[in-house]
Amino acid sequence: MASTAHRVCMAMLALPAIALAHGEIVVDVGHTLAAPGATSARGRSEFEFNLDLAREVTAALQARGRSARLINEDGLIPSLKARPQAAEGAAFLLSIHHDSVNAFELQPWQWQGQALDYNDDFAGHSLFVSRDNPDTARSILCARIIGARLQRMGFEPTYKNGRRRAYADPMHAVHYYDGLAVLRHATMPAVLFEAGVIKNRDEELLLRDPARIARMADGIATALVACLTAGQPADDEATADGPPLQPVVE
Ligand SMILES: [Zn+2]
Repeated sequence: MASTAHRVCMAMLALPAIALAHGEIVVDVGHTLAAPGATSARGRSEFEFNLDLAREVTAALQARGRSARLINEDGLIPSLKARPQAAEGAAFLLSIHHDSVNAFELQPWQWQGQALDYNDDFAGHSLFVSRDNPDTARSILCARIIGARLQRMGFEPTYKNGRRRAYADPMHAVHYYDGLAVLRHATMPAVLFEAGVIKNRDEELLLRDPARIARMADGIATALVACLTAGQPADDEATADGPPLQPVVE
């Protein structure tokens, strides 16, 4: 965790409003081909889920006139640190992931002759920010607005990650995860989004549905653009977490 002095110093490096409002948004595809993350209940890798949603989010941002760029589309990025480096100069970094469960929570099952595992107890999205990012207050604000927008559209958050990660905003399932490399090494506000639980057999199918992916991407893009153009973050991280947000106005 950063010291108070470090945080105050880093807060002065926050991007100016014009850069936030017009700068590029970078969308990171979580994991790689070599280390593709968790395997879904039906045997599909997290990387493949991340790629589908990240492409849609990028397209939805571009459809709103924002400059947006995917990183790690080929799944070949060499390290965690290379992600924020690839985002250098951007106004915002959004890393796309899909969630799993603990190994002891898995049940075995067979799917099309394959021995796989699942857990149907948890479903829903969640969001993560780091207090070691140079603009934690803006990161929290954007995460809260994404969460608020998605819930308003009918998407449900998961509270499973509250068992291990402290909340920045419980209502919108925004957590602190200070040590996440992609967030803490970013030089711009950054959020990691977990779209849903791919070990859940019902939610997995929803997370593979192209129309639902596009709808979720649309909600994320609406929220992110609102946050970067009109959002007023708290003065510092200490006051950024707190009472419910007003709904996003389109
Ligand atoms: Zn992941």
